Amino acid sequence: MAQKHDIAVLPGDGIGPEVMIEALKVLDLVEKEYDVTFVRTFGNLGGVAIDEEGKALPQTTIDLCRASEAVLLGSVGGPKWEHLPPMEQPERGGLLPLRKLFGLYANLRPAIIFPSLVEASVLKKEIIGDGMDILVIRELTGGLYMSQPKGIEGTAPDREGIDTLRYSEAEIKRIGHVAFQAAMKRQKKLTSVDKANVLASSVLWREIMISLSAEYPEVELSHMYVDNASMQLVRNPKQFDVLLTENMFGDILSDEASALTGSLGMVPSASLAEGSFGVYEPAGGTAPDIAGQGIANPIAQVLSMALMLRFSFNMIEAADRVDAAVEKALEAGYRTGDIFFGNPGEKKVSTSAMGDAIAANF
Ligand code: NAD
Repeated sequence: MAQKHDIAVLPGDGIGPEVMIEALKVLDLVEKEYDVTFVRTFGNLGGVAIDEEGKALPQTTIDLCRASEAVLLGSVGGPKWEHLPPMEQPERGGLLPLRKLFGLYANLRPAIIFPSLVEASVLKKEIIGDGMDILVIRELTGGLYMSQPKGIEGTAPDREGIDTLRYSEAEIKRIGHVAFQAAMKRQKKLTSVDKANVLASSVLWREIMISLSAEYPEVELSHMYVDNASMQLVRNPKQFDVLLTENMFGDILSDEASALTGSLGMVPSASLAEGSFGVYEPAGGTAPDIAGQGIANPIAQVLSMALMLRFSFNMIEAADRVDAAVEKALEAGYRTGDIFFGNPGEKKVSTSAMGDAIAANF
């Protein structure tokens, strides 16, 4: 009997709905090839939810996500909603509470430069060679952004701003296992990024990572201070396979790694909860400058869908095939405007034509 999975589809704002159509186009083919049905229920998140249901994360959307095994998300936000109080805006009022509500503690961002797109990278060809493939894993629910106490205390001119950086052994172990397991499926190299020369939380982080490594003897574990890691990412990114970091360091390093790929339209992400539930979305935003023109790059959304197959549904072969289809479409010269350089063999195409090219190569 065909397998059936329930997924929530939240296309979001700006280019979100345009690129989501292309990801679902490829998902249609996965269904046919693998005798599986993804029951897709659409919901509102972000600006569209404010317009239609009065708030960025409506109860209907929370209920829908609770009833689903995974959430495929477009980006949210845009100038239309920037006048609202910060906590009511699409990201602060929609996306962040969604992440918190579902305990999404592990954020995975592959930063890949495909061989045919070496030119798109901001780095020189001598550094990138024939491409790059790094997986940045960021702890998402602890650390400096989340720990208590936090706030501004006292009265001016003697106020103090307070943030706390706290990690428990259990939190470090939980994200550590995710990183080791991801490394096992890749090149088996894991770099744990910390600041153990200054921060007590990093000393504990490093100690726990070393103790966990006994369970993964095949994985080569190394440690790097965060300042050096940010430098090594631009000097010699090819030394990395999996990079693991705490929340704030990961916020910064994952953006840096994404920037190396040349276009935000290429970078997918997965945010995982315990068990198999996950939220899958492009790393970039809603691109208001090009929204509605049918020219956005759908690859980040398509690759986010592939991450959903990989992590929530353990459909590794199907996920590999989606990734390969993207690579083949690029090798065949298909380019949306953000990755078009006018070189011989390149064909500048629309969002839907790029989706068609990926589908044709699946
Ligand atoms: P952005 O990522 O939307 O755009 C930055 C640049 O990248 C723009 O030039 C845009 O055209 C380009 N770009 C991004 N995705 C692309 C794609 N798929 N194809 C082609 N080009 C692409 O960042 P921004 O302009 O800072 O933010 C715009 C809106 O998106 C803001 O409201 C912001 O709050 C929101 N945002 C949302 C998320 C999210 O939902 N996760 C993340 C970042 C920004």
